[in-house]
Amino acid sequence: MKTGANLAEGSYQQRVQGRIEALMSVLAKASIGDYSHDVPQDEAHDEFSELYVGVQLMLETVREKVHQLEGLNEELENIVAARSAELFGSETRFSAVADSAPDAIITTDARGHILYVNRAAEIIFGYPESQLKDQALDRIVPGLGTKYLKSLPTAPSSGTHKLDKPVQAIAEHKRGRQFPVELSFATWKAGQQTYVTAVIRDLTVHQMIMHKLSQRTLQLESQVAEQTLLLRQQLTASEHNQAQVEAMLSSLGEGVVAVDKTGRIVFVNHEMARLAHTESGLVNGQLYSALSITDATGRPVPRAHRPIYRALKTGQRVTCSEYFYHSIDDQLIPVSITAAPVMMKGKIVGGIDIIRDISKEKEADRLKSEFVSLASHQLRTPATAVKGLLSLILEGYSGEIKPSQRALVNQAYLENEHELKLVDDMLDAAKLDAGEILLEPSRVNLRALLKAIVAEQQSRIRERHQVVIVTAPHEVSINADAGKLQMVFENLITNACKYSADHGRITVRLSVVDSEVVVRVRDRGIGIPAQDIHLLFRRFSRAANAAKAHTTGSGLGLYLAKKIVDLHHGKITLESQLGRGSTFTVTLPKLLTKE
Ligand code: ADP
Repeated sequence: MKTGANLAEGSYQQRVQGRIEALMSVLAKASIGDYSHDVPQDEAHDEFSELYVGVQLMLETVREKVHQLEGLNEELENIVAARSAELFGSETRFSAVADSAPDAIITTDARGHILYVNRAAEIIFGYPESQLKDQALDRIVPGLGTKYLKSLPTAPSSGTHKLDKPVQAIAEHKRGRQFPVELSFATWKAGQQTYVTAVIRDLTVHQMIMHKLSQRTLQLESQVAEQTLLLRQQLTASEHNQAQVEAMLSSLGEGVVAVDKTGRIVFVNHEMARLAHTESGLVNGQLYSALSITDATGRPVPRAHRPIYRALKTGQRVTCSEYFYHSIDDQLIPVSITAAPVMMKGKIVGGIDIIRDISKEKEADRLKSEFVSLASHQLRTPATAVKGLLSLILEGYSGEIKPSQRALVNQAYLENEHELKLVDDMLDAAKLDAGEILLEPSRVNLRALLKAIVAEQQSRIRERHQVVIVTAPHEVSINADAGKLQMVFENLITNACKYSADHGRITVRLSVVDSEVVVRVRDRGIGIPAQDIHLLFRRFSRAANAAKAHTTGSGLGLYLAKKIVDLHHGKITLESQLGRGSTFTVTLPKLLTKE
């Protein structure tokens, strides 16, 4: 049987047992990291109470520490995550950049053992990355030698050390082909490890290009040297030529003016500057028309009539001797002007005027005409006397003459007539040249004039069984100098008969075209050699075939005819074919403006 003391003892033991178990359960949970359970509340105040409080305090301290540690851990985790992300980014970026580089990029450790190669390295050396890893660098660049790697400067503790000068070496492809490369090195450190990164450039193409380039450069250099020599020679020659041309132009007695296609002066020589009373340099760039030339009356010649502008317009050479320059004392200086276009690739690019002071020629001409006129007068008197005397003999005033004598006297009479004609022509020419012949215009019936000329020559025409036909549509009258026109047409009709065979047919056709009258004298005679045609209107000019066939002839008739037609403001032209005949055409204005 249990006593009361026994009973009290028993329940206390049970309570202690319960409290120990509760404490043990809290500690057991704490030992596996669960600090959430508190020590059970206990009202008792005994030897366990302090233990309870101590355990509870310890639990709470542990709980706080755990909380702090958890916070720290989270922070660390965040830092680690951020650094990993950064690292991942830069690595990806590095390999993306390295793989797209055209040069080989190889990283080795300090001993020269390959750790990393980019894609270009695989292509350049012919190995996949796996076969290159852990190999010595001098397997692919044997020319470099590992010694070189050892001589590289030690890497700085942070950052990289880049070698100043790239190194050239011979590399070897997997298949044994050797090729030139250029290597740039950088040494760097990570932790305690030293690394070397080499950027290797394949110089094969580069060297080929350099080789080609140096060959081409050599070639070009020699070409340039040749060209320079040639140019220098040409320059010297052209400087020499230019100096020669300039000296020649300067010392020329003729004035020379060069103009561009717009008529602006580009060059003037000394003589021209003298004629124009200026200095050669001053007029360059000016319009040539500003340097005035005049006609015989002192009136300025309009620009369009000036030879240079005619040459620039037509592309033809133009010559004339009718114009004048004013001398410094206001005298008119007669000049002969020859204007020629300057052509380049078929285009007119400018023109050159050559101006010659012909005062002396004009003066000599005048003196000559004076002399001819004087001499002709002196000749005419005795020749006329001879004619009279021969007429007397022929008419029998000196008694009967035998037929043989008559023939000789007749011959003498004809020669004398010819001499008189020559003297007359010379006198007329001298007068015309001296400007002494003035026109005496009146109303001239051209048809009547032509018919009268033919009628007068009829006996001679008949003698040679020739026919001269005059055709005219109607009476045509013009205002002209009848006597002078008679000389013109007499000469043309006489020549047509003279240079035609016996039985020849000559036509004289008069027509009116607009405000002009046209007289055409046509024969089918000996014709004129083409090369002589342009000479025949000059003084004393005769074609070789005519001179051979007819020894008599002065070469003055056509000269006079042209002068007279010019005075009438008309034109005389000639078409001819050797052996087939000639046609002379005279065109005259119907109304002659009074001079
Ligand atoms: P001339 O007849 O007195 O010699 P011209 O001045 O009248 O002198 O003629 C000059 C030259 O022109 C002649 O010598 C001749 O050569 C040539 N001529 C002129 N008219 C004719 C013609 N109708 N047929 C052939 N030649 C001609």
